[in-house]
Amino acid sequence: MMRLPRFRYLAPSKLSEAAAVLADLGTQASVLAGGTDLFPNMKRRQQTPATLVGLREIRVLRERSGNPGSGITLGALTRLSEIEHDSAIAAAWPALAHAAASVATPPLRNMGTLGGNLCLDTRCSYYDQGPEWRAAIGYCMKKDGEICWVAPGSPRCWAVTSTDTAPVLCALGAEVTLVSAAGERRIPVEDLFADDGIQHLTKQPGEILSAVHLPAPAPGARSAYAKLRRRGSFDFPVLGIAASARLRPDGTVDHASIFVSGTGSRPARAQEAAEWLAGRKLTDEDVLREAAEMVAHVARPLQNTDFSMSWRKQAAREFAARALRALMT
Ligand SMILES: Cc1cc2nc3c(=O)[nH]c(=O)nc-3n(C[C@H](O)[C@H](O)[C@H](O)COP(=O)(O)OP(=O)(O)OC[C@H]3O[C@@H](n4cnc5c(N)ncnc54)[C@H](O)[C@@H]3O)c2cc1C
Ligand code: SF4
Repeated sequence: MMRLPRFRYLAPSKLSEAAAVLADLGTQASVLAGGTDLFPNMKRRQQTPATLVGLREIRVLRERSGNPGSGITLGALTRLSEIEHDSAIAAAWPALAHAAASVATPPLRNMGTLGGNLCLDTRCSYYDQGPEWRAAIGYCMKKDGEICWVAPGSPRCWAVTSTDTAPVLCALGAEVTLVSAAGERRIPVEDLFADDGIQHLTKQPGEILSAVHLPAPAPGARSAYAKLRRRGSFDFPVLGIAASARLRPDGTVDHASIFVSGTGSRPARAQEAAEWLAGRKLTDEDVLREAAEMVAHVARPLQNTDFSMSWRKQAAREFAARALRALMT
């Protein structure tokens, strides 16, 4: 059995106190939300913070405001199970409810939070292993080593983004608020992510993700999420296609936004497909297939997750078609 290393636990009751602690301790501290990703990573010694700053006493992080008509703000501690079972969210942003419901298992969704899901560590078959396994191969660039076993000549880490809600929130045009001792800033969710398996967030270590802002859906807005994983009961995504679109009653696309996840270090925008779809009818199967092909171009899997990379590349076409088809239901 893997045990947690020793750590100091702080439980501030105000966001400003938590930000001050993080400013003081820098990279020696980590924020703790539901702990469903951080604790397993600490047990495997992938993340080794000396201090954890627990957020659970900070009430403002559980608050919610607004409504689907004007847009809503969800506190970072909103549990994934709350999103999954919220009928207003399911009606206005079905892809978000679906993505939240597809994360892990019911007990993990009861603990796991929206903020923690967005800040989830990237994953790789050579990294998500116990300490002895990683020691046996001399570790890797992401933690304690120098080489990337996936691409040994590469100067960077290719670990993949594995959060289910991120691609959906990117496609929906959502924003996040980041709070630090220096103040706060609001950025598009898309800009929260960087194309690097190690520095995969643009968030600074001292910043706390405090809230997620969802814009009101425009008339005719639809959204869908298609996820590939081996075991439907709890596996992480190894491919995720999130799509949102404004459709006319006859199926003509006014505007589309599509993101591919699980095949790179950040959710990737399928810009060419989205632009090409504007003015075309999704009810036309040839149009849908052509767009799915363009979406699949954006998926560039490597051999560092479940399934072979060539098969995941092929699956990207099929899953893109499924997501686009689901926009019309
Ligand atoms: C068996 C298993 C299966 C899983 N399957 C999936 C899956 O299919 N899809 C998926 O998306 N996830 C999956 N997960 C991962 C995890 O359960 C979820 O991503 C969950 O939403 C993480 O949220 P949390 O609150 O538990 O985060 P934590 O574990 O508390 O934190 C995760 C990371 O985010 C940081 N963090 C947390 N909150 C904030 C904040 N407000 N501001 C700044 N930084 C913050 C932490 O410091 C940490 O680095 C799985 C986990 C397990 C154990
Ligand atoms: S992609 Fe390379 S550096 Fe990154 S976790 Fe995997 S093996 Fe390590």
